[in-house]
Amino acid sequence: MRSPFRQKFGIPRQAGLIASVGARVQITAPYDRIEAFRGLEAFSHIWLQFIFHQARRDDWKPQVRPPRLGGNRRVGVFASRSPFRPNPIGLSLVGLNGIQRDATGLWLEISGADLLDGTPVLDIKPYLPWADGVDDAEAAWAGEPPARLAVRFSAKAAGTLAGAEGERLRRQLIEVLALDPRPAYHASASRRYGMRFGEYEVEWQADERGVRVTGVDSTTGSD
Ligand code: SAM
Repeated sequence: MRSPFRQKFGIPRQAGLIASVGARVQITAPYDRIEAFRGLEAFSHIWLQFIFHQARRDDWKPQVRPPRLGGNRRVGVFASRSPFRPNPIGLSLVGLNGIQRDATGLWLEISGADLLDGTPVLDIKPYLPWADGVDDAEAAWAGEPPARLAVRFSAKAAGTLAGAEGERLRRQLIEVLALDPRPAYHASASRRYGMRFGEYEVEWQADERGVRVTGVDSTTGSD
């Protein structure tokens, strides 16, 4: 997986919440044979099964504290989509925007992924709405998508988002930050947060009026 999320902080807590954020799945040998994907381009969405490679632990805990419940109420790990599971296997439904081979190999262009850059992908399957989607399903406390905050930019941050590339980045940051990535149990209104997003270091604060982006700095050339 090649994703703009270079660290776990800031990644949406579920797939499908950030339609404008693209990512790529690199198909590695010996599976990078285009005939193995023939027909997949006709599906608008695909399932990705993957390993939470940065959530591997020697032991496992039977209960977790979902951020959606404020980070202090426990539920069984199998009643959650937590990365910290006996087998750290994830499942994400993402948009499929293209399949292409270039000099670096065979790639699936996707959108809406909630995966960390470098995540190993185990399997890819086409999404079948009539089989995989259940209109009247019950989902307890997780039945609704997360609330979204308003996102605004300081003059300094807005000044760095010029041109088409800047507008694209602005739209992506609004989608990602509106989901309020702050850890549920210490959502501080005064604290400044820093988040890596693609080639940018983004600084922001969140209060009752929403998120205020105070800095967007390119990291290229600074490494
Ligand atoms: N949609 C998947 C599922 O339901 O299995 C993932 C849901 S999980 C709550 C999403 C979170 O997993 C992200 O917000 C991020 O913090 C974390 N995550 C994503 N990729 C990861 C990786 N490779 N290793 C560890 N944690 C990861």
